[in-house]
Amino acid sequence: MSEWLARARQQRLLEENPAPKECAKTAKTAKTPFGSLSEDGFGSFGTTSSIPLEEIRDRFDWTALRLREEHGLAPALAHGRAVAVLRSELHNDPRLVPVQQDPRTCLVCGRPANLARILAAILSPHPDERLWLHLEPCHAEYLQHQATRVDTLLAGAGLEEM
Ligand SMILES: [Zn+2]
Repeated sequence: MSEWLARARQQRLLEENPAPKECAKTAKTAKTPFGSLSEDGFGSFGTTSSIPLEEIRDRFDWTALRLREEHGLAPALAHGRAVAVLRSELHNDPRLVPVQQDPRTCLVCGRPANLARILAAILSPHPDERLWLHLEPCHAEYLQHQATRVDTLLAGAGLEEM
């Protein structure tokens, strides 16, 4: 193979399969659903809503009470476990799960799949619904975004693990 042909093929491969680094850069400056900001300062992913802080406090109080009275935990231990339970529940709350506008493109960066970067389906608390996104770095960014959103809700409700 001639050097010219080898370079042309290499250039074509790069154009068809952008490097993950380039995808990561796009993910941070996404212009697709990930980018729009809601009132709470986080990406709305299109049509997600939020959860009232009063509801979060009520759920915490109920969980902590049950841990103290039904399981006999000390107040400090019940507090920490109730926050952990609540954190898990919030991660699976359908109101915090984004609605994907176009399942043919990545939820995070908005790019379509290609041979080097497939779109993987992740489960959603909405029945029969999947979210489609690239693996790394988009999946990691999605997890970080959701974790930050849950942590912010917990902090807003005055709840932290002890
Ligand atoms: Zn992506």
